[in-house]
Amino acid sequence: MHIVVVGGGVVGMTTAYELNRRGHKVTVLERHSIAGNETSKGNAAQRSYGVVYPWADPAMVFKALPWLFKQDGPLKLRVPPSVETLRFMFATLRYAWSPGLFGLNRRAMLRLGIHSRERFLTLEKELGLAFDGAHQGLLHLASTPEALEGYRATHDLLNELGIPSRLLTPEQVREAEPGMLGNGPLYGALSYDTDGTGDCHQFSRELAKACEEHGVVVRYNVDAEKLIADEHKVSAITVRPVDGVMEALEADAFVISAGCWSSHLLRPLGLELPIYPVKGYSLTVAMKNSERGPASTIHDDNYKVVSTRLGNRLRATGFVELADFNRDIPEVRLATIRKSVESRFPGCANLDEAEAWTGFRPMTPDGPAIIGRGPRDNLYLNTGHGTFGWTLSAGSADVIARVIEGEEPIICLDAFRPGRFQE
Ligand SMILES: Cc1cc2nc3c(=O)[nH]c(=O)nc-3n(C[C@H](O)[C@H](O)[C@H](O)COP(=O)(O)OP(=O)(O)OC[C@H]3O[C@@H](n4cnc5c(N)ncnc54)[C@H](O)[C@@H]3O)c2cc1C
Repeated sequence: MHIVVVGGGVVGMTTAYELNRRGHKVTVLERHSIAGNETSKGNAAQRSYGVVYPWADPAMVFKALPWLFKQDGPLKLRVPPSVETLRFMFATLRYAWSPGLFGLNRRAMLRLGIHSRERFLTLEKELGLAFDGAHQGLLHLASTPEALEGYRATHDLLNELGIPSRLLTPEQVREAEPGMLGNGPLYGALSYDTDGTGDCHQFSRELAKACEEHGVVVRYNVDAEKLIADEHKVSAITVRPVDGVMEALEADAFVISAGCWSSHLLRPLGLELPIYPVKGYSLTVAMKNSERGPASTIHDDNYKVVSTRLGNRLRATGFVELADFNRDIPEVRLATIRKSVESRFPGCANLDEAEAWTGFRPMTPDGPAIIGRGPRDNLYLNTGHGTFGWTLSAGSADVIARVIEGEEPIICLDAFRPGRFQE
């Protein structure tokens, strides 16, 4: 089959890779001049298979509301909120209070996480890509005794699902992360032993190159504008090159992996996808004292900031901001990220020299991504991965390739079904 994939982020590129290795002719359409240049560019770099969870969690709602009013709080809301922001917030609250839904969705996401880890290991062995990738574990620090207590339930759930994790004392945390010499409060940590890290942007670009070497056509600088369809099938997609004439590209099947920009392609076909762009920020800098930086990756629960090693670089990331597609980078946000890093890894890097970035998590209000057949027979969706798209990309790509080929899905896809927001 000839299959068109819309979007050359990490999800689109892993999808192209899986379809190509199954013998399909694949064309990727990407608006930017390189792969992975939107949300996949500056994320927290965690491949956090054991962490994945929906934000639509009643406990989280109670915890998150006070954060809105704290100067350094991780949750920010642009005032006045737009209609889209309010719609997203109310939908999230509604899903949070659907009895039993959080638990079901969390388990579904964790199962996809387990599968994704396996697919990453295979892909890395097959292609040998250079992206500062590693699987050396991930720590969720506990800066209060209550936080450590709260990790026990997660530890039990991971045990039940066969995902290796450990509760660590402060001494064990310092053994695992010897560069953590700061005076930030520390009562222990939950260690996700088999989780990993890696530069998602570098990975996406390297994977695009490898895909092209294997025959995938990646068309950069083109806008995919409209799906041309009757009531059963999509026959073509209109493509507008930045400096060229619009054309209709025909194919046998189409996969939409356009992240936060997926909805407008599907709306004319009657499918409304409530994907909302949840903003975050990151700083990336070469470390001057690499041994005083993170050994792998930590989530500092004090400021909700993630610090990750990428080779000799440090990536520090934070904030959940509801501000639509606003791309401003206020200094006050970066100052909080710097403060968190200094409280854990003082002197490891000169953060004033760091490259600042902002991007948008393609969030669904209930949490799971949208994976499966769309509103026409040959139209498929692999999008809406929210805060865990890097982590879940390799697994989701394999899953959607199986759906397209009519194989038994390797995990239950109920939680990810595209039509669920209209039921
Ligand atoms: C601050 C922050 C921290 C994060 N940390 C992590 C983390 O540690 N671990 C993790 O797993 N995830 C993390 N994420 C989430 C992760 O980055 C995303 O889920 C993931 O990058 C989404 O990938 P994607 O390919 O779906 O979207 P994108 O990377 O946004 O790719 C979509 C692509 O589609 C293209 N496109 C869209 N519309 C069109 C069109 N009409 N025509 C042509 N091209 C089009 C865009 O140009 C873009 O390149 C984080 C996100 C943020 C913002």
